[in-house]
Amino acid sequence: KDSGKGHYRFYSSRMDVEFQQYILMGKHLRRAIEKNELMIHYQPQVDLKSGEIESFEALLRWNNPKFGNVSPLKFIPFAEETGLIIPIGEWVIDTVCKKVKEWQERGAVDFRVAINISPKQFKAPYLPKLIHQTLRKYDLPASAIEIEITETMMMDIGNVLNILQELKDLGIKISVDDFGTGYSSLNYIKKFPIDILKIDQSFIRELNISQKDVAITKTIIHLAHHLDLEVIAEGVEEQEQVKLLQSLNCQKAQGYYFSRPVSAEEIEHRYFY
Ligand code: C2E
Ligand code: MG
Ligand code: MG
Ligand code: MG
Repeated sequence: KDSGKGHYRFYSSRMDVEFQQYILMGKHLRRAIEKNELMIHYQPQVDLKSGEIESFEALLRWNNPKFGNVSPLKFIPFAEETGLIIPIGEWVIDTVCKKVKEWQERGAVDFRVAINISPKQFKAPYLPKLIHQTLRKYDLPASAIEIEITETMMMDIGNVLNILQELKDLGIKISVDDFGTGYSSLNYIKKFPIDILKIDQSFIRELNISQKDVAITKTIIHLAHHLDLEVIAEGVEEQEQVKLLQSLNCQKAQGYYFSRPVSAEEIEHRYFY
């Protein structure tokens, strides 16, 4: 009735409403790139010894007139399901590289930006080539970017070793996101050429009160040290967490305590020029 005369609603159950929402979101997300609705925010990663910032994580944002600010936790899985992650992922890689080039040209060298890669993107056999071409397009060294994958992705994919090795050969650093929450297996840490472990924020959240979380965090840090990997704690919000991580010799941290993810302009304003 609400849609007025001449409109018929064939769908009324909750499932169907959700399905319609799903179709609608797809329609809008499909046009998000050309309509300039996507944006990258950058979150600094802080060295816990020196206090210096040498790297950022790129986090995708979608602002749509109809849906407002949609969380990546909602639209990334959707993009993944519908295949839209492929063009969106390409846009992210291109946009980040373009920005890093701009930063370098304006004198902010030595910064690295971590890019999140989703399972479908990772499975696309052209990923190393795409990254290689984009680096060349902007005349950037491989040290300018890093990719983040999850444990589950390493487990799922047959030719994961080849893809990682190709990326590694290009000189791209590989980071394991949300470490400790997936199908953690020491086997792939041994097998795959990874560089960085990111301790999941679920272990950091209650670090001040949970001895179990302290034990797990400590163990991941030791593991990283012994294997010569970099280690970053995610989701650091409080000073007590920073102190504890420092006492555990955790190398880097990232979280609201230091900064929320912010626009490129804000990064430039704060850290570069
Ligand atoms: P992630 O890669 O594990 O990113 C960390 C998430 O934690 C981000 O959420 C970040 O904003 C949030 N965060 C950072 N510091 C804190 C903190 O101190 N406290 C709390 N509570 N949260 C904090 P965001 O930006 O909503 O992204 C969610 C997830 O979406 C990401 O998790 C990542 O898996 C995915 N994602 C984001 N951007 C991209 C992208 O460009 N491509 C792909 N494939 N996935 C992306
Ligand atoms: Mg990440
Ligand atoms: Mg994470
Ligand atoms: Mg995550």
